[in-house]
Amino acid sequence: MEIDYSELNYLQDPNWQDLHADYVQFLLSMTGPTVIDITGKNTNKCRVFTTLLQGNEPSGLIALHRWLTTRDDSQLPQTNLRFIICSVEAASKKSLFTHRFIDGSKDINRCFGITKQHPSFQHSQQGCYERAQRIEQAIREVNPEMVIDLHNASSPGPTFSISSIITTETLSLASFFCQTLILSDLNLNSLMEQEFSCSFITIECGGSFDEQAHEVAFAGISHVAQCDNIGYIHQEKNVEVIYRPLRLQVKTDVNLSYAEHDEGYSGVTLKNNIEYFNFGGAHQDEMIGWIDGDGLNNLQLLDKKGKNVIDDYFYARENQLVCKQNLRLFKATSNKEAALNDCLFYVVKHINSEA
Ligand SMILES: [Zn+2]
Repeated sequence: MEIDYSELNYLQDPNWQDLHADYVQFLLSMTGPTVIDITGKNTNKCRVFTTLLQGNEPSGLIALHRWLTTRDDSQLPQTNLRFIICSVEAASKKSLFTHRFIDGSKDINRCFGITKQHPSFQHSQQGCYERAQRIEQAIREVNPEMVIDLHNASSPGPTFSISSIITTETLSLASFFCQTLILSDLNLNSLMEQEFSCSFITIECGGSFDEQAHEVAFAGISHVAQCDNIGYIHQEKNVEVIYRPLRLQVKTDVNLSYAEHDEGYSGVTLKNNIEYFNFGGAHQDEMIGWIDGDGLNNLQLLDKKGKNVIDDYFYARENQLVCKQNLRLFKATSNKEAALNDCLFYVVKHINSEA
Protein backbone atom coordinates (compact mmCIF):
# COMPACT_ATOMS: atom_id res chain seq x y z
CA MET A 1 0.00 0.00 0.00
CA GLU A 2 1.26 3.48 -0.90
CA ILE A 3 1.94 5.55 2.15
CA ASP A 4 0.43 9.01 2.23
CA TYR A 5 3.14 11.04 3.90
CA SER A 6 0.95 14.09 4.18
CA GLU A 7 -1.72 12.22 6.18
CA LEU A 8 -2.34 13.22 9.78
CA ASN A 9 -5.53 12.11 11.53
CA TYR A 10 -7.09 13.86 14.50
CA LEU A 11 -9.10 12.45 17.38
CA GLN A 12 -10.68 14.82 19.91
CA ASP A 13 -11.39 13.40 23.38
CA PRO A 14 -11.77 9.84 22.05
CA ASN A 15 -14.34 7.55 23.64
CA TRP A 16 -13.94 3.84 24.39
CA GLN A 17 -15.11 2.91 20.90
CA ASP A 18 -12.40 5.04 19.29
CA LEU A 19 -9.84 3.54 21.61
CA HIS A 20 -10.83 -0.12 21.07
CA ALA A 21 -10.35 -2.95 23.52
CA ASP A 22 -6.57 -2.88 23.74
CA TYR A 23 -3.58 -1.06 22.32
CA VAL A 24 -3.06 -3.59 19.54
CA GLN A 25 -6.64 -3.16 18.27
CA PHE A 26 -6.20 0.56 18.65
CA LEU A 27 -2.96 0.54 16.65
CA LEU A 28 -4.58 -1.52 13.90
CA SER A 29 -7.53 0.88 13.74
CA MET A 30 -5.26 3.78 12.80
CA THR A 31 -4.34 4.29 9.16
CA GLY A 32 -1.46 6.70 9.66
CA PRO A 33 0.01 9.19 12.11
CA THR A 34 -2.63 10.24 14.59
CA VAL A 35 -3.04 13.22 16.88
CA ILE A 36 -5.14 12.78 20.01
CA ASP A 37 -6.35 15.90 21.78
CA ILE A 38 -7.59 15.79 25.36
CA THR A 39 -9.35 18.71 26.95
CA GLY A 40 -7.90 19.85 30.25
CA LYS A 41 -8.99 22.20 33.05
CA ASN A 42 -6.86 25.01 31.70
CA THR A 43 -7.54 25.06 27.98
CA ASN A 44 -5.06 27.90 27.38
CA LYS A 45 -2.15 25.59 27.97
CA CYS A 46 -1.15 22.42 26.17
CA ARG A 47 1.40 19.70 26.92
CA VAL A 48 2.50 17.47 24.07
CA PHE A 49 3.67 13.87 24.02
CA THR A 50 5.09 12.37 20.86
CA THR A 51 5.66 8.66 20.53
CA LEU A 52 6.25 5.80 18.13
CA LEU A 53 8.55 7.91 15.99
CA GLN A 54 10.15 4.53 15.51
CA GLY A 55 7.74 1.67 14.97
CA ASN A 56 9.62 -0.72 17.22
CA GLU A 57 9.37 1.47 20.33
CA PRO A 58 5.91 0.82 21.76
CA SER A 59 6.05 1.96 25.42
CA GLY A 60 4.59 5.40 24.74
CA LEU A 61 1.65 4.05 22.77
CA ILE A 62 0.95 1.31 25.32
CA ALA A 63 1.11 3.83 28.16
CA LEU A 64 -1.03 6.51 26.54
CA HIS A 65 -3.65 3.92 25.61
CA ARG A 66 -3.69 2.74 29.21
CA TRP A 67 -3.95 6.29 30.48
CA LEU A 68 -6.78 7.15 28.07
CA THR A 69 -8.79 4.02 28.87
CA THR A 70 -8.36 3.98 32.63
CA ARG A 71 -8.58 7.66 33.53
CA ASP A 72 -11.56 9.04 35.40
CA ASP A 73 -13.31 11.17 32.76
CA SER A 74 -14.60 13.54 35.41
CA GLN A 75 -11.02 14.33 36.45
CA LEU A 76 -9.67 16.46 33.65
CA PRO A 77 -5.90 16.81 33.26
CA GLN A 78 -4.54 20.16 34.45
CA THR A 79 -4.03 21.40 30.89
CA ASN A 80 -4.94 20.28 27.42
CA LEU A 81 -2.86 17.33 26.29
CA ARG A 82 -1.89 16.38 22.78
CA PHE A 83 -0.52 12.93 21.97
CA ILE A 84 1.07 12.44 18.56
CA ILE A 85 1.47 8.84 17.42
CA CYS A 86 3.87 8.82 14.50
CA SER A 87 5.06 5.70 12.65
CA VAL A 88 1.79 3.80 12.71
CA GLU A 89 2.44 2.01 9.39
CA ALA A 90 5.83 0.65 10.49
CA ALA A 91 4.50 -0.41 13.92
CA SER A 92 1.50 -2.25 12.41
CA LYS A 93 3.64 -4.30 10.05
CA LYS A 94 3.91 -7.95 11.13
CA SER A 95 5.41 -8.82 13.51
CA LEU A 96 3.95 -5.84 15.31
CA PHE A 97 6.38 -3.37 16.88
CA THR A 98 9.48 -4.86 15.26
CA HIS A 99 9.98 -2.45 12.34
CA ARG A 100 11.74 0.80 13.08
CA PHE A 101 10.52 2.15 9.73
CA ILE A 102 8.97 0.82 6.55
CA ASP A 103 11.36 -0.81 4.04
CA GLY A 104 12.62 1.71 1.52
CA SER A 105 11.84 4.52 3.93
CA LYS A 106 14.06 6.12 6.54
CA ASP A 107 14.18 6.59 10.30
CA ILE A 108 11.95 9.65 10.69
CA ASN A 109 13.88 10.75 13.76
CA ARG A 110 16.77 11.57 11.42
CA CYS A 111 14.55 13.63 9.09
CA PHE A 112 13.62 16.71 11.12
CA GLY A 113 14.76 20.13 10.00
CA ILE A 114 15.65 18.90 6.51
CA THR A 115 14.35 21.02 3.67
CA LYS A 116 15.18 20.92 -0.04
CA GLN A 117 18.12 23.25 0.60
CA HIS A 118 19.60 21.01 3.32
CA PRO A 119 22.80 19.13 2.39
CA SER A 120 21.29 15.78 3.50
CA PHE A 121 18.17 16.18 1.39
CA GLN A 122 17.61 13.09 -0.77
CA HIS A 123 14.86 13.08 -3.31
CA SER A 124 13.94 9.44 -2.64
CA GLN A 125 13.31 10.23 1.03
CA GLN A 126 11.19 13.30 0.37
CA GLY A 127 8.12 11.67 1.92
CA CYS A 128 9.88 11.19 5.25
CA TYR A 129 10.91 14.83 5.44
CA GLU A 130 7.37 15.87 4.62
CA ARG A 131 5.98 13.72 7.41
CA ALA A 132 8.58 15.10 9.81
CA GLN A 133 7.41 18.62 8.93
CA ARG A 134 3.76 17.68 9.52
CA ILE A 135 4.61 16.32 12.94
CA GLU A 136 6.62 19.39 13.83
CA GLN A 137 3.69 21.51 12.69
CA ALA A 138 1.28 19.49 14.85
CA ILE A 139 3.46 20.37 17.84
CA ARG A 140 3.84 24.05 16.99
CA GLU A 141 0.16 24.68 16.31
CA VAL A 142 -0.76 24.20 19.98
CA ASN A 143 2.10 26.39 21.24
CA PRO A 144 2.93 23.82 23.96
CA GLU A 145 4.48 24.55 27.34
CA MET A 146 6.45 21.27 27.12
CA VAL A 147 7.10 18.38 24.76
CA ILE A 148 8.04 14.88 25.87
CA ASP A 149 9.12 12.35 23.25
CA LEU A 150 8.77 8.75 24.42
CA HIS A 151 11.18 6.10 23.11
CA ASN A 152 12.53 2.66 23.90
CA ALA A 153 15.97 1.12 23.61
CA SER A 154 16.45 -2.09 21.61
CA SER A 155 17.84 -3.92 24.62
CA PRO A 156 17.15 -3.82 28.33
CA GLY A 157 18.56 -0.93 30.30
CA PRO A 158 17.50 1.59 32.94
CA THR A 159 15.30 4.54 31.94
CA PHE A 160 17.06 7.79 31.16
CA SER A 161 16.12 11.12 29.65
CA ILE A 162 17.88 13.34 27.13
CA SER A 163 17.69 17.05 26.58
CA SER A 164 19.73 19.61 24.69
CA ILE A 165 19.49 22.01 27.62
CA ILE A 166 19.55 21.60 31.39
CA THR A 167 17.07 23.80 33.22
CA THR A 168 15.06 23.41 36.41
CA GLU A 169 12.12 22.59 34.17
CA THR A 170 13.84 19.84 32.15
CA LEU A 171 15.17 18.41 35.42
CA SER A 172 11.73 18.36 37.00
CA LEU A 173 10.15 16.80 33.88
CA ALA A 174 12.90 14.17 33.81
CA SER A 175 12.26 13.37 37.47
CA PHE A 176 8.72 12.23 36.60
CA PHE A 177 10.28 9.37 34.67
CA CYS A 178 13.80 8.62 35.83
CA GLN A 179 16.92 9.70 37.69
CA THR A 180 19.30 10.41 34.83
CA LEU A 181 19.26 13.34 32.41
CA ILE A 182 21.75 13.32 29.57
CA LEU A 183 22.75 16.62 28.06
CA SER A 184 23.19 15.99 24.37
CA ASP A 185 24.44 18.25 21.64
CA LEU A 186 24.40 15.57 18.96
CA ASN A 187 23.31 16.67 15.54
CA LEU A 188 21.18 13.90 14.08
CA ASN A 189 18.19 15.79 12.68
CA SER A 190 16.06 14.35 15.45
CA LEU A 191 12.86 15.95 16.69
CA MET A 192 14.53 16.94 19.95
CA GLU A 193 16.99 19.24 18.17
CA GLN A 194 14.23 21.43 16.72
CA GLU A 195 13.33 24.70 18.43
CA PHE A 196 9.89 24.73 20.06
CA SER A 197 10.33 27.61 22.54
CA CYS A 198 9.52 25.30 25.44
CA SER A 199 11.12 22.48 27.44
CA PHE A 200 11.68 19.37 25.39
CA ILE A 201 12.91 16.09 26.77
CA THR A 202 13.26 12.65 25.26
CA ILE A 203 12.64 9.65 27.49
CA GLU A 204 14.30 6.34 26.74
CA CYS A 205 11.91 4.24 28.75
CA GLY A 206 13.98 1.02 28.71
CA GLY A 207 13.79 -2.09 26.52
CA SER A 208 10.95 -2.26 23.94
CA PHE A 209 9.43 -5.40 25.38
CA ASP A 210 10.03 -4.67 29.03
CA GLU A 211 6.83 -4.23 31.07
CA GLN A 212 8.77 -1.96 33.38
CA ALA A 213 9.42 0.43 30.47
CA HIS A 214 5.68 0.67 29.76
CA GLU A 215 5.07 1.25 33.46
CA VAL A 216 7.58 4.10 33.56
CA ALA A 217 5.89 5.76 30.57
CA PHE A 218 2.45 5.38 32.13
CA ALA A 219 3.52 6.79 35.49
CA GLY A 220 5.17 9.73 33.74
CA ILE A 221 2.15 10.57 31.59
CA SER A 222 -0.15 10.36 34.63
CA HIS A 223 2.16 12.62 36.55
CA VAL A 224 2.43 15.24 33.83
CA ALA A 225 -1.36 15.19 33.37
CA GLN A 226 -1.89 15.92 37.08
CA CYS A 227 0.98 18.33 37.57
CA ASP A 228 -0.20 21.82 38.40
CA ASN A 229 2.78 23.79 37.28
CA ILE A 230 5.66 22.19 35.46
CA GLY A 231 7.66 25.41 35.60
CA TYR A 232 7.81 25.22 39.35
CA ILE A 233 10.99 23.70 40.77
CA HIS A 234 9.59 20.38 41.71
CA GLN A 235 11.84 17.38 41.50
CA GLU A 236 10.28 14.07 42.34
CA LYS A 237 13.65 12.41 42.71
CA ASN A 238 17.24 13.53 42.47
CA VAL A 239 18.29 13.60 38.86
CA GLU A 240 21.89 13.02 37.89
CA VAL A 241 23.10 14.99 34.89
CA ILE A 242 25.42 13.32 32.37
CA TYR A 243 27.22 15.56 29.93
CA ARG A 244 27.53 14.99 26.21
CA PRO A 245 27.93 11.29 25.49
CA LEU A 246 29.52 10.27 22.19
CA ARG A 247 28.32 7.55 19.85
CA LEU A 248 30.55 4.57 19.18
CA GLN A 249 30.16 3.34 15.61
CA VAL A 250 31.83 0.81 13.36
CA LYS A 251 33.23 2.43 10.25
CA THR A 252 31.48 1.85 6.91
CA ASP A 253 31.80 -1.71 5.61
CA VAL A 254 33.30 -3.04 8.83
CA ASN A 255 31.80 -6.36 9.86
CA LEU A 256 30.00 -6.40 13.23
CA SER A 257 29.38 -9.60 15.22
CA TYR A 258 28.35 -10.61 18.70
CA ALA A 259 29.85 -13.59 20.50
CA GLU A 260 30.46 -15.10 23.88
CA HIS A 261 34.10 -15.90 23.13
CA ASP A 262 36.70 -14.75 20.65
CA GLU A 263 35.67 -16.38 17.38
CA GLY A 264 38.29 -14.66 15.23
CA TYR A 265 35.69 -12.82 13.14
CA SER A 266 36.80 -9.97 10.94
CA GLY A 267 35.95 -6.41 11.99
CA VAL A 268 34.47 -5.86 15.43
CA THR A 269 32.91 -8.43 17.75
CA LEU A 270 31.09 -7.27 20.86
CA LYS A 271 30.38 -9.49 23.84
CA ASN A 272 26.88 -10.81 23.38
CA ASN A 273 25.92 -9.61 26.84
CA ILE A 274 27.01 -6.07 26.00
CA GLU A 275 23.71 -4.69 27.33
CA TYR A 276 24.76 -5.60 30.88
CA PHE A 277 27.05 -2.59 30.70
CA ASN A 278 23.95 -0.35 30.49
CA PHE A 279 23.38 -1.03 34.16
CA GLY A 280 26.76 -0.90 35.83
CA GLY A 281 29.02 0.79 33.29
CA ALA A 282 32.39 -0.56 32.22
CA HIS A 283 35.62 -0.28 34.15
CA GLN A 284 39.09 0.71 33.17
CA ASP A 285 40.93 -2.30 31.65
CA GLU A 286 37.68 -4.23 31.24
CA MET A 287 37.19 -5.84 27.83
CA ILE A 288 33.94 -5.38 25.94
CA GLY A 289 34.76 -7.38 22.79
CA TRP A 290 37.36 -8.22 20.15
CA ILE A 291 38.84 -6.53 17.10
CA ASP A 292 40.69 -7.90 14.08
CA GLY A 293 44.15 -6.87 12.84
CA ASP A 294 42.91 -3.38 11.97
CA GLY A 295 42.49 -2.75 15.69
CA LEU A 296 40.81 0.48 16.76
CA ASN A 297 40.76 1.61 13.12
CA ASN A 298 37.55 -0.38 12.76
CA LEU A 299 35.76 2.04 15.04
CA GLN A 300 34.94 5.69 15.28
CA LEU A 301 33.94 7.84 18.20
CA LEU A 302 33.50 11.35 16.89
CA ASP A 303 33.57 14.32 19.19
CA LYS A 304 31.66 17.54 18.62
CA LYS A 305 34.23 18.76 16.12
CA GLY A 306 34.07 15.50 14.17
CA LYS A 307 37.45 14.29 15.44
CA ASN A 308 37.83 10.57 16.12
CA VAL A 309 38.69 10.32 19.83
CA ILE A 310 38.48 6.54 20.09
CA ASP A 311 42.01 6.37 21.59
CA ASP A 312 40.91 8.39 24.61
CA TYR A 313 38.28 5.82 25.54
CA PHE A 314 39.51 2.42 24.38
CA TYR A 315 42.70 0.52 23.62
CA ALA A 316 43.59 -2.82 22.07
CA ARG A 317 45.01 -5.49 24.35
CA GLU A 318 46.18 -7.96 21.72
CA ASN A 319 42.88 -8.47 19.89
CA GLN A 320 40.66 -7.42 22.77
CA LEU A 321 38.71 -4.17 22.81
CA VAL A 322 39.37 -2.70 26.25
CA CYS A 323 38.20 0.39 28.14
CA LYS A 324 40.91 2.95 28.80
CA GLN A 325 39.04 4.40 31.74
CA ASN A 326 35.84 3.98 33.69
CA LEU A 327 32.96 4.49 31.29
CA ARG A 328 29.20 4.86 31.42
CA LEU A 329 27.36 3.17 28.57
CA PHE A 330 23.84 3.90 27.33
CA LYS A 331 21.74 2.03 24.78
CA ALA A 332 24.29 -0.75 24.35
CA THR A 333 22.50 -3.42 22.36
CA SER A 334 23.11 -6.84 20.91
CA ASN A 335 20.58 -6.02 18.18
CA LYS A 336 22.92 -5.76 15.22
CA GLU A 337 20.49 -3.85 13.01
CA ALA A 338 19.95 -1.19 15.67
CA ALA A 339 23.69 -1.01 16.35
CA LEU A 340 24.50 -0.45 12.68
CA ASN A 341 21.60 1.92 12.08
CA ASP A 342 22.35 4.10 15.09
CA CYS A 343 25.44 3.19 17.07
CA LEU A 344 26.92 0.39 19.18
CA PHE A 345 26.27 2.49 22.26
CA TYR A 346 26.50 5.97 23.72
CA VAL A 347 29.47 6.44 25.98
CA VAL A 348 30.72 9.00 28.45
CA LYS A 349 33.74 9.02 30.73
CA HIS A 350 32.82 8.20 34.28
CA ILE A 351 34.18 11.21 36.12
CA ASN A 352 33.29 10.22 39.66
CA SER A 353 35.25 7.45 41.26
CA GLU A 354 33.28 4.34 42.05
CA ALA A 355 33.80 4.82 45.78
ZN1 LIG B 1 13.79 5.82 19.49
